[in-house]
Amino acid sequence: MARDPRYDVLFEPVKIGPKTAKNRFYQVPHCNGMGHLYPNGMTAMRGVKAEGGWAVVCTEECEIHPSSDYTPISEMRLWDDRDLPVHERVVDAVHAHGALAGTELVHNSHDAPNRFSREVPLSPSHRVCIYNDPVQARAMDKEDIRAFRRWHRDAAVRAEKVGYDIIYLYVAHNITMLMYFLSHRYNDRCDEYGGSLENRVRLLREVLEETKEAVGHNCAVAVRFAVDELMGEEGVTHDGEGRAVIEMLAELPDLWDVNIAGWENDSVTARFAEEGYQEKFISFVKQVTSKPVVGVGRYTSVDRMVSLVEKGVLDFIGAARPSIADPFLPKKVEEGRLEDIRECIGCNICVSCDFLVHPLRCTQNPTMGEEWRRGWHPESIAAKGSDTRVLVVGAGPAGLEAARALGQRGYDVMLAEATRDLGGRVTLESRLPGLREMARVRDYRAQQIERMTNVEVFRESKMTVDSVLEVAADHVVIATGAHWRRDGVGRRHATPIPGSDLAPPFTPDDILAGRLPDGPVLIYDDDHYYMASVLAERLRAEGRDVIFVTPAADVANWTHNTMEQPRIQARLIELDVEIHTALDLVAIEAGTAVLSCVYSGRETRRDCAAIVSITARLPNDALYGALAADAAALDAAGIGALNVIGDACAPATVAHAVYAGHRYARELDEPKPEGVPFKREMVALAPLS
Ligand code: ADP
Ligand code: SF4
Repeated sequence: MARDPRYDVLFEPVKIGPKTAKNRFYQVPHCNGMGHLYPNGMTAMRGVKAEGGWAVVCTEECEIHPSSDYTPISEMRLWDDRDLPVHERVVDAVHAHGALAGTELVHNSHDAPNRFSREVPLSPSHRVCIYNDPVQARAMDKEDIRAFRRWHRDAAVRAEKVGYDIIYLYVAHNITMLMYFLSHRYNDRCDEYGGSLENRVRLLREVLEETKEAVGHNCAVAVRFAVDELMGEEGVTHDGEGRAVIEMLAELPDLWDVNIAGWENDSVTARFAEEGYQEKFISFVKQVTSKPVVGVGRYTSVDRMVSLVEKGVLDFIGAARPSIADPFLPKKVEEGRLEDIRECIGCNICVSCDFLVHPLRCTQNPTMGEEWRRGWHPESIAAKGSDTRVLVVGAGPAGLEAARALGQRGYDVMLAEATRDLGGRVTLESRLPGLREMARVRDYRAQQIERMTNVEVFRESKMTVDSVLEVAADHVVIATGAHWRRDGVGRRHATPIPGSDLAPPFTPDDILAGRLPDGPVLIYDDDHYYMASVLAERLRAEGRDVIFVTPAADVANWTHNTMEQPRIQARLIELDVEIHTALDLVAIEAGTAVLSCVYSGRETRRDCAAIVSITARLPNDALYGALAADAAALDAAGIGALNVIGDACAPATVAHAVYAGHRYARELDEPKPEGVPFKREMVALAPLS
């Protein structure tokens, strides 16, 4: 299909210093949980982005020195020449598809406690290290500043040597030396590097000039700068010091990559911010500089992208998450295939991988992080291995993705769904406050399936043992989901909470089905992800008084990994939800919850009209169990293989369910590998002495 001419502007080449980007799609630096620990995985992932049409593909932040050691978080490193081979591979992988390769040099200052290197952390002023280590950074003296400038210059020269086209100075997200020098909160120096804004900008200006001088003839030098910290005069503001800094350095860099600090303000989840909410903060930048400007906003609307360029807000459409959810987004726009774009849902599961230090994964894109180790490509998949007919039971994320990917392979697929609606849990949950974009998990797959003549969808078709046997497909895969437990078993309780049988609490399934309890409602959260907090919002919207009880130290504790926790707790406080942390539900009596302090065991009683228990789920595996128990009937019906996937196998996140569906489809008719079913990155042993 031809590209819509309205989008031509997005495919104009743009000069960045001595380099030219072939279009306006720009993958900004983003963490991925791989970095120097999983370099092949990271390289292949970047290569796929370049193949997908991004004109610029950057690495994540890249530490310039052992005194900026983020262990256990895994980023890239350019400490010395021994780091170069990995970078060479990244650059080659990106160049192979005609994209420019960028890298983001960083010193993490007192954000890095140097757990591996054990170097003394450095900072503009004496400050505690972030990450709660009982460790402090010392204030840098002049010799330290000279050394820092030298390290930065040396890293830039190395980056140029391996062929990077764009070399970044990182002055954003509240985690970098150059940002801390600039910040009046963190810089209380009395010398020429502290005090006035001009003094606080001095180090940035020096490093910028030195980088330009060292590599500027051959590489573009970019500054990634946070124009606002969303904390008013306490921090940088877009109409105060943020603007002043860009005015002072306007023409010095070859490109401005502008955003909002900290990272939690830049990569806000869809629950808390709309696409492009950053626009009002960054829109001034192009009025102040003639250099190209890139900015992010979880942009997936192509019309919005065009308008940003036409209005003169941005020269490049920056993307981290949209490029993770769909590495081929630019190609799809170019080829006029907008309906094929897998839009990011803004859930930040990708972000959690950085905090939890494992290879990147994405709710929408099951191939993310698997490009090298499993050889999965986001767009292509092996043709079917036989003329097998497959019955998929259940059209939640697992069943939909299995049917879509099997259909893409060319199998004849029947997808049977008990209800009228496709989507399973994502359809139900997308009706809860803030979760609307979850429906994109369904919409992308449903749209793809609709166009496949080899995939038939049967709605309102609740399958039973008899009907499955009657269909007599060659393969049957059960993806019937899960339901929430009513007995309180979860992380805290290995056995049912006493009284849960006599006065059964409500569960999220009740509320999703529109069965709302009367108030006051006590929500017991031993799940610690988003569900309990969105139900609290939902019940407050219905006018119920809500008491929120959790054994954890704070509300929705796991959402620290998606950077949502402070916003969730703030929202519940604003909604007048009564919050009790470190408190357990130990017994249920009619009209009363018996609660216990998790530390002292001291018991209290709380009257309430209803309890909603959010602890764990149980697979809906009765159909699978009954079929599996009757091998003779399967045989007689000609069913060669029966599988169970997604929540029906083991309840987990939507990302897990999509992955399970995809994996099932990939592996059908493929030989089962012996041993570990994926490639591993192995540590190269250095000589013992
Ligand atoms: P997952 O996350 O594993 O995909 P979901 O709970 O989101 O699981 O989706 C499961 C889907 O399976 C739901 O849409 C549900 O209606 C459907 N389903 C459950 N049991 C049957 C059945 N016996 N026949 C057909 N569909 C079923
Ligand atoms: Fe978007 Fe979620 Fe994928 Fe991250 S994990 S890219 S937020 S869909």
